Amino acid sequence: MEECPFCGIANKKIPSLVVYEDDNFMAILDIRPANKGHTILFPKKHKTSIFDLNNSETNKIFYIAKQLIKNVKATTNCDGVNLVYSIGEAAGQRVPHMIIHIIPRNKGDKVAITWEPQKISEEEFKKIAEELLKANKNISEKVIEEKKEKIITEEELKKIKPAEIIEIEPREPKYW
Ligand SMILES: [Zn+2]
Repeated sequence: MEECPFCGIANKKIPSLVVYEDDNFMAILDIRPANKGHTILFPKKHKTSIFDLNNSETNKIFYIAKQLIKNVKATTNCDGVNLVYSIGEAAGQRVPHMIIHIIPRNKGDKVAITWEPQKISEEEFKKIAEELLKANKNISEKVIEEKKEKIITEEELKKIKPAEIIEIEPREPKYW
């Protein structure tokens, strides 16, 4: 059986430069870094994706990511940080283990996270927004338990023109 490389790193069969470790999570320096300080955070147990983590583990991994970002920023003195997490081969997941990349960024560096903006009709925009808003209702019910914050209604959503949103936030295709 061929072992997962990140399981190998977690149980120290594969050497790595560890920059953080607790009972359940580990962070190492990427051996093929996009920039100095490029860190990979992952659960020590084999988990294919975030969907294999329970809520407490999910909270912990993103809490650790937040602290790692803060420290990598202070240590490398970078201008910014990208958090890159890919789910599935189509998205660029190359290992069968959940890993989160923390990439320090500097103005004019050689890192590019790109896409070509797609043309979507206003009708399609609204349709997908409505579907997602509906699907996402159960999140707000769970997340906003005490606060009872006002959630955008479907009526309000219809008033927003996607074209206006695009004009407010012009996006360079090669950098975001
Ligand atoms: Zn693994």
